[in-house]
Amino acid sequence: MLNGLEMCVNHARRVKRKGPLFFTRGINVIVGPNGSGKSTILKALYSCDRCQNAMDIDVRLHYFNSVTMNPRTDESPALNMTNMALRLRAAFSSHGEILKAAFTTLPIQKGDCLLIDEPEAGQDLDGILKIREGLNALCEGGGQVIMASHHPVFWRDCNILELKKGYVATQLRKYREIIGSDGVGE
Ligand SMILES: [Zn+2]
Repeated sequence: MLNGLEMCVNHARRVKRKGPLFFTRGINVIVGPNGSGKSTILKALYSCDRCQNAMDIDVRLHYFNSVTMNPRTDESPALNMTNMALRLRAAFSSHGEILKAAFTTLPIQKGDCLLIDEPEAGQDLDGILKIREGLNALCEGGGQVIMASHHPVFWRDCNILELKKGYVATQLRKYREIIGSDGVGE
């Protein structure tokens, strides 16, 4: 499990929230407006040698962003067999299916951590709900998820890390205003 992150100077200046970040078991969601540093945090966790990760020794990190979730646009060589298998599946799947395929293809072990940048990209609501189910199952099996997401389906019953204080409450109020108490489509 990944317990926390203390960012290096280079990454810290690109993230709106100051101080170390702490993660829990299960699903952690980084929430904030565009430009507040959500993707920066995920990239720092995955690949920065200067940022300090508080991490159990044998944790393996798996990283998904819109490029790795849609490998037809990815020109880089496949890293390993699992990666190749995911790409092969993706070639025969609709946009975004790669993440769902990952739940069954990746050899996730207890304590592994999935880093996911906006899993809702290119998904309809049914797809988003399926991904959420998959993430729940993964966490019940001992996995951990740290994601960046704008979608409220991923906010419910998760550890929320706001990059702007009060952001979730503001967004939910806006959703309620848009949909309204009279309902939609009446
Ligand atoms: Zn860094």
